[in-house]
Amino acid sequence: MAQCYDLIVLGAGSGGLAAAKRAAKHGARVVVVEGDQVGGTCVIRGCVPKKLLVYASQARTAFYNAKAYGISAGQVEIETATLLRNVRTEVDRLNALHVELLERAGVNLVHGWGCFSGPHSISVKDRQDPDGVIIEELQGKRILIAVGSCPSRLSLAGAELAWVSDDMFQLKSFPKRIVVVGAGFIACEFAHILRGLGCDVVQLVRGHHLLRGFDRELSDVVREGTEGMGIEIRFGCNLAAIEGESGAIVVRLDSGEQMEGNGVLLAVGRHPFLQNLGLEIAGVYSDGHRILVDEYQTTNISHIFAVGDVTDRCNLTPVAIDEGRAFADTIYGGSPRMVNHNLVASAVFSQPELATVGLTEDQAVEQLGPEAVTVHSTRFRSLAQALPKQGPRCLLKLVVAKSDGRVLGCHMVGDHAAEIIQMAAIAIGMKATKADFDCTMALHPTISEEFVTMF
Ligand code: NDP
Repeated sequence: MAQCYDLIVLGAGSGGLAAAKRAAKHGARVVVVEGDQVGGTCVIRGCVPKKLLVYASQARTAFYNAKAYGISAGQVEIETATLLRNVRTEVDRLNALHVELLERAGVNLVHGWGCFSGPHSISVKDRQDPDGVIIEELQGKRILIAVGSCPSRLSLAGAELAWVSDDMFQLKSFPKRIVVVGAGFIACEFAHILRGLGCDVVQLVRGHHLLRGFDRELSDVVREGTEGMGIEIRFGCNLAAIEGESGAIVVRLDSGEQMEGNGVLLAVGRHPFLQNLGLEIAGVYSDGHRILVDEYQTTNISHIFAVGDVTDRCNLTPVAIDEGRAFADTIYGGSPRMVNHNLVASAVFSQPELATVGLTEDQAVEQLGPEAVTVHSTRFRSLAQALPKQGPRCLLKLVVAKSDGRVLGCHMVGDHAAEIIQMAAIAIGMKATKADFDCTMALHPTISEEFVTMF
């Protein structure tokens, strides 16, 4: 007989976990269905293990820079096999921690792949065998779809020979030479991680700039940093085919050119995970790409909801968490709440980091007109770069409304950009003006003091 719950959550990622725990706190009887480790993309194969790799990559740079301070550590040796093993151990620890946190919150966890068998019912099957036998049947008054997204592959010959970001965390060690395809978050972050760890990296970009959608000046500083690290960026390149075998790959471009490497990483975007959910059985509408929801995360079926990447709105961990909590507060906590998708800070953990909140210069000009916007920016070499004498100069930029002096956007490329912009986001959320920034006493010597001393 099917177990009955107030809420069935499909997916134990950032959004699903946040919603489940918050709903349980409000007194709901909740079960989470997950076919993989608990934690989702962020914890298992995304933000968290990626950031550990960023730290590793930066540690090597720090060793090299140490010479400028008269510190010698001998020959730097990198064992990426040890690094990857340690990262996986940490991920396992976090998985166990999240399982424990669910238990403590009184949320049941069912391992397997959940698929609608009716508007209020979910069949749980083996993840590897979604057409196979049913492990468990669940009944829910409400159902939340929080199954996230997965990396896209290109449909070209030999695409199966390439890795996607999920695969990078499962490698035994990193390759000596890699071709990274793409110019977005994942391509830039992985190109820098791998180069920092001593790999030869070629980055293939179909357009003519990195990080499309970000402020052009900022992405140009990231490009400088990328080239400064010794990454070969090839703009205007389109992949035609991938050939070879594991460890010895040949990448063919549509220009007829070819290049060799020990591996290829396809970082060409992600798409919502809609396969094998049985949405049609429950009558849940998707546009073929994502599940459509209203501002309270409700699908076209009033008792079925969706949060996070599966709705493809603003695909960032903190947004999914807030959507999950807002859903639970609205439905079970008696305090309806919409998520503010308009002021979301984001960061690319490139080296140097890029972080941004609010309107870019282009967006502000488009919305208010060129006469209504003032841009203040500064580029300089930070003190940390004075002795090692390397790395691109950082860039700080404020976009301000002329009429009332409000800071509309705050952007930065440089060390600790993400940490700094996180704090700036508070000021922008509070509608701070340039005058508010200027009357803040600078903290010297820092990079971020420039935000309060800019002309
Ligand atoms: P992005 O959407 O950021 O970038 C995709 C890249 O792939 C773009 O450069 C795009 O080029 C390129 N591309 C797309 N199709 C092709 C193609 N057919 N051939 C060649 N290149 C192609 O996706 P990511 O995979 O980097 O990241 C996915 C999402 O994950 C991000 O949008 C973000 O939401 C999240 N994320 C967030 C991180 C963070 O917060 N630090 C880190 C990692 C991921 P073009 O620009 O020309 O379209």
